[in-house]
Amino acid sequence: TGRRARAEEVLRVLEERCATPIGKLREVADDMTAEMVAGLQAEGASKLKMLVSYVDNLPTGDEKGLFYALDLGGTNFRVLRVQLGGKEGRVLKQEYEEVSIPPHLMVGSSNELFDFIAAALAKFVASEGEDFHLPQGRHRELGFTFSFPVKQSSIASGILIKWTKGFCIDETVGEDVVAELTKAMERQGLDMKVAALVNDTIGTLAGGRYDDSDVIAAVILGTGTNAAYVERAQAIPKLNVVPKSGEMVINMEWGNFWSPHLPMTDYDKALDFDSLNPGEQIYEKLISGMYLGEILRRVLLRMAKEASLFGDIVPSKLEIPFVLRTPHMSAMHHDASPDLKVVGTKLKEVLGIPNTSWKTRKLVVNVCDVIAKRGARIAAAGIYGILKKLGRDTAPTDTASKRRTVIAMDGGLYEHYAIFSKWLQSTLRELLGEEASASVVVKLANDGSGIGAALLAASHSQYL
Ligand code: ADP
Ligand code: MG
Repeated sequence: TGRRARAEEVLRVLEERCATPIGKLREVADDMTAEMVAGLQAEGASKLKMLVSYVDNLPTGDEKGLFYALDLGGTNFRVLRVQLGGKEGRVLKQEYEEVSIPPHLMVGSSNELFDFIAAALAKFVASEGEDFHLPQGRHRELGFTFSFPVKQSSIASGILIKWTKGFCIDETVGEDVVAELTKAMERQGLDMKVAALVNDTIGTLAGGRYDDSDVIAAVILGTGTNAAYVERAQAIPKLNVVPKSGEMVINMEWGNFWSPHLPMTDYDKALDFDSLNPGEQIYEKLISGMYLGEILRRVLLRMAKEASLFGDIVPSKLEIPFVLRTPHMSAMHHDASPDLKVVGTKLKEVLGIPNTSWKTRKLVVNVCDVIAKRGARIAAAGIYGILKKLGRDTAPTDTASKRRTVIAMDGGLYEHYAIFSKWLQSTLRELLGEEASASVVVKLANDGSGIGAALLAASHSQYL
C-alpha cells in the first residue's frame, strides 16, 4: 500500500543518513585521536576533557584487606565489599547489593540524593559478616565510583563539572562530591573514609588490569558511554604532577566527543534539542543505552505520523519521550521467531499498538538495525582512535613480540545487546585489519568497576 511505501521511504532516508562506510569511520577515528591530543595539551582545549584521574598505579594483585566500593552513575547504584588476600588469596570474598534511585532524587536536592546513598551504604555495612576483617582501630575505606565528569585535584577529591544521563541537580555542580558524600555519611553516623574517587571507566580499567595485565584501556557502554586509558606522563603537557610510574590514567569523558564526520539525523538533532543537556554529549546520544530506544521511538513516531504505519491514529504512547527503552529495542531486534512475536508483544505492551502485521514488525526490526549498527560502528571508530593514539593500531613490529592489547568493556548495553556488541567487534576488526587485530582483544569485564574501585581504595589506602 501507499502507507507502507511511505514508511519504507522514511527507513531508506534514515539508512542513508546513518551510513557509516569505512572511510567515514576512519575520519571519525582520526578526529578522536586529534581531539585526544588537544585535550591533553591544555584545559578546555577540546570537547574531550581528557581528565587527569590521579590514578598513576593500577592494581598489581598484591592488595590486601577489607574494602568497600560505592558505584553511582546510572539508574542503579551499587554497594560492594571485598576481602582481598594478596597475590595468593586474590578476592577471598565479595558481596554486593544494588539499589535503584527514585527518579525524583535525580533532579531534587543534593542533600537528599547523598543522604539516600549514605543510608543505603550504612545499612549494607551493618550486614557485614564474620568473613570480613577490619584490623583493630581502623576506619573502613571506600572506593567511590562516581560516573559523571569531575575535575579532580587529588585521588580523593573532585569537583562535579556537570551532571549527565538524566541527573540534574544544579547545587551539586561545582561542589566536591567526596565532601558531599562524607557529610552525608557523617549524618548517618557511618564511620567510613573515601580513599579513592574514580569514574566507572577507571574502576573498570583497574578491575580489568587486576585480571589481565595487558589491559590498557576501558570502555563503558551502558546508560552512558565513556573511555579511559593509560597515558605516558610525557604525552600530557597539562599534567601538574610527576607520577612515579611515569604513567597517568586519563578519563577521556568521550561521551562529549564531537566530529563533523559523525552521522547525525534530524531525529538526533531533535533528541539533543529536547534533552537536559542540549549541545553536549553528542557522541553519547548516538551510542549509549539511554538514547538508542529513544531514537527508535522518534523514527517510529515519524512513520506513524507521515505514513500512518500503525493505523489512522498516532498511538498516544508513542508520543511519550523515553517510553521505549533500549532493552525493549534489543528484545525486538533479537526476535528470532518466524512471526516476530516479541516485536508484536513489545509494540502492544510498551506502545499500546495491537495486532501488527508481520511486515510492520519487520520494518520496526529494520529500524532497530540501522540505529544499533550506526552506534556500534562509531563506538568501534572511537576505540580505533584510542589505539591509534597509543600506536597500537598496527601489528607489533618485532615478529617475536607477543604484545597483546586488551580493552576492558563494561556496561549493560555491551553485555546484553548482542547484535550491538557483534557489530562493534567486527567493525574494530575491519578498521584494524587482520594482522593488527590478532593482538587486540575486547574483553567483557563484568562489573569490573565495583571491584576496581575497591582495589583502588586498597592501593590508595591511608594505612599504606
Ligand atoms: P549504568 O550504565 O547505569 O551504570 P549498566 O552498565 O548496567 O548501568 O547499563 C544499564 C544500561 O544498559 C541500561 O540503561 C540500558 O540502556 C542498557 N541495557 C540493559 N539491558 C539491556 C538489554 N537487554 N539490551 C540492551 N540494552 C540494555
Ligand atoms: Mg555502570
